[in-house]
Amino acid sequence: MSSPVLFDNHGRPLNYLRLAVTDRCNLRCFYCMPEEGIKYLPKKELLTFEEIERLVTLLAQMGITKVRLTGGEPFVRTDLMELISKITSINGINDIHVTTNGILTAPHVKEMKAMGVASVNLSLDTLDPVRFRMITRRDEFARTWHTLRLLLENEIPVKLNAVVMENKNIDDIIPMVELTRSQNISVRFIEEMPFNGEGSHYPKLHWTYKRILEHIRSAFPSVQKIPDPANATAYHYRVPGFKGDVGIIAAFSRTFCGSCNRIRITAQGALKTCLYDDGVLDIKKLMRSGSADDEIKKELLFAFNHRPKDGMEAESHRSKKSVMESMSTIGG
Ligand code: SAM
Repeated sequence: MSSPVLFDNHGRPLNYLRLAVTDRCNLRCFYCMPEEGIKYLPKKELLTFEEIERLVTLLAQMGITKVRLTGGEPFVRTDLMELISKITSINGINDIHVTTNGILTAPHVKEMKAMGVASVNLSLDTLDPVRFRMITRRDEFARTWHTLRLLLENEIPVKLNAVVMENKNIDDIIPMVELTRSQNISVRFIEEMPFNGEGSHYPKLHWTYKRILEHIRSAFPSVQKIPDPANATAYHYRVPGFKGDVGIIAAFSRTFCGSCNRIRITAQGALKTCLYDDGVLDIKKLMRSGSADDEIKKELLFAFNHRPKDGMEAESHRSKKSVMESMSTIGG
């Protein structure tokens, strides 16, 4: 049975859900959260697996076909594999993806392959263990690297995500592009966004997507633009003869809003129809107050019909508090 097609008020098809299963994380990346004093949500504030299953089922009935599990670190939620299995069996969900820092992931790689997980986004900002520790405030490079090797061995498509940060990991850009010479992976460089959980620094963007590209071109003058898949957030490039490719994501410049097909559910069960909005619907409250499926769908539809045109418009409507948000709560 083919899925219904869901459109927003700007005529953009919506088919992709990014779901934060927890706000907890086993790293403390400085651009994402403060080192100490993080107030995690009490467990009862997170959606239960039953609630997630119900919500994804409703969204699938409306037109969502693709789900990404993220967080926080999704694997700190025990039984994540059970949730993946539940979601893969929901009618209408064609593919499920996971975004992870790789620390607790290795033991689950084979099972993910068997369950048909379509791809894994592995966050890795540097190839240098010392820099890794400085950026993440944890000494865990070896485990992430091991996970990368296992993903490649098991032929699960991998995207390596690196946030590009002035004075932190610029020296990693070229070695990471070099990785695509012999490995069939997609290395993606992401502009740093102002979601660090502190609100104290709203970074000036030193490394725009244009500057990242110029930097890559200085070492690989033959790098070529290749076609971007539909709804991609990255601009794709390849060095001729290399097996993998390179993506650059203008996450802060927000050049891709015109074709945005995604919605987010935060760790506390709020709907975001744009990464830069405040949260537009408290789905957890609706579910826990006994709303029927049809009522929930009606509220969801209302939100999809009132989506901001782009991230700039969403940000202009945002209340002050959310500048302090961390990507770990939002679901990166
Ligand atoms: N723990 C998982 C991981 O590390 O992949 C999933 C959650 S993490 C919040 C998802 C992605 O968001 C990571 O690739 C991370 O680098 C990115 N991210 C977090 N804060 C960011 C920021 N301020 N700017 C750009 N990307 C950010």
